[in-house]
Amino acid sequence: MMAHTLLPITNLDRLEQISGKERVALSEVSQHHAFLSNDYYLSLISWHDPEDPIRRLIIPDLREQSQWGQEDPSDEGFFTPMQGVQHKYDNTVLFLISNQCAGICRYCFRKRIFHTRHNESLHDLDAAIAYVKNHREVSNVLLTGGDPLMLPTRRLDDILTRLRQIDHVSVIRIGSKVPAFMPQRISNDLDLLAIFRHHSTASKRLYIMTHFTHPRELTSEADTALGCLNDSGVLLANQSPLIRGVNDHAATLTELFKRLAAVGSPQYYLLQCRPVRGNHHLVVPIEEGMAIFEQAKSRCSGLEKRGRYVMSHTTGKIEIVGLLEKQVILKYWQAVRRIDRGRVMIVPKNPLALWLEDYLHPQASGPEEIGASQPDGVLEGMMSYHTDSRNTNLICPGMKKKQRQSGNGGSTFQRLPVLVHLELIVK
Ligand code: SF4
Repeated sequence: MMAHTLLPITNLDRLEQISGKERVALSEVSQHHAFLSNDYYLSLISWHDPEDPIRRLIIPDLREQSQWGQEDPSDEGFFTPMQGVQHKYDNTVLFLISNQCAGICRYCFRKRIFHTRHNESLHDLDAAIAYVKNHREVSNVLLTGGDPLMLPTRRLDDILTRLRQIDHVSVIRIGSKVPAFMPQRISNDLDLLAIFRHHSTASKRLYIMTHFTHPRELTSEADTALGCLNDSGVLLANQSPLIRGVNDHAATLTELFKRLAAVGSPQYYLLQCRPVRGNHHLVVPIEEGMAIFEQAKSRCSGLEKRGRYVMSHTTGKIEIVGLLEKQVILKYWQAVRRIDRGRVMIVPKNPLALWLEDYLHPQASGPEEIGASQPDGVLEGMMSYHTDSRNTNLICPGMKKKQRQSGNGGSTFQRLPVLVHLELIVK
């Protein structure tokens, strides 16, 4: 087996497999969305294939220069009561504890953290812990970033120790692509495995949400790392986006789901790729995605196909449940407003739809239109949402605090009336 240095590679000039001319063009792209990988992950690429899925996942692409999409399409900033803490759903708080990853995915939904000067990571752990202590409804903390497993092991231990001291936090999850990008970071760090063993107790298990997007990422090195995690008492589940040219074939998804179940990290969510700036060439339309997902599941056993196809929308996590002859069935799996929880929506089909808004304004599905300013009438809808006394107490705690801090809802708030329009459509 080839020994890898695992040192970060950020300079495209190191990639001799790409022509000099192409490297110059792609370096321009990486000025806006950084390139980062290592020799292990790059060794998974079949360089003779220009359409290689691993290459598409990690190597910059000229099409990223498109202005399509938004920096923060799920309006995460709106649910951020303090730097590095997100509180969107009652029970769940996110700590963004790292702004580094072991590689940078071209489709990253938080790519803004790599190219803006604004640091969104947690800088005051005491305040974040106090926030969770003061919100007794929070049973679930997700450590995310960036990638939490890029932190020094001792720092991670400190955060886990302090969260474990909060009785009402029963579940701690760590979202990480390190098992795919740099599995050796896990198998070679006995201290890391020891802290996982310590914090994953019989009554309160620690979860690691892995991020395998293509079956070729599940190498023997990855299998070893996942085996170490399993042996340390951590529970595993996988979430990954559906990406054009990477995993948008039923056979690929079937293989991914089967391998994930076999190694003990079954699929949890298959995520619709968010309309992030520069991602248009990577997004699969929702109805096409649903057809691929169903076909893939038809070849899987129950555990292999337990994942759900969802969209992380500003208003909540929306499951794409199924397709009728002329309509699409959507369901809120999580929702900001309590009255929306479990809500089923049936919307007319739009084969070009990439995001929920495309079902509300079907013309807004091209690269230029989506992410543009809201059409007339939305602001009016926002006002009725915001001023309706039946609804104002349904806004999540993080949202109210942000509103108080900023003095106004900001542009993100103007996107919430989407529900007002949906109700009109489904009637
Ligand atoms: S691992 Fe996650 S945060 Fe890091 S680049 Fe990929 S999608 Fe973005």
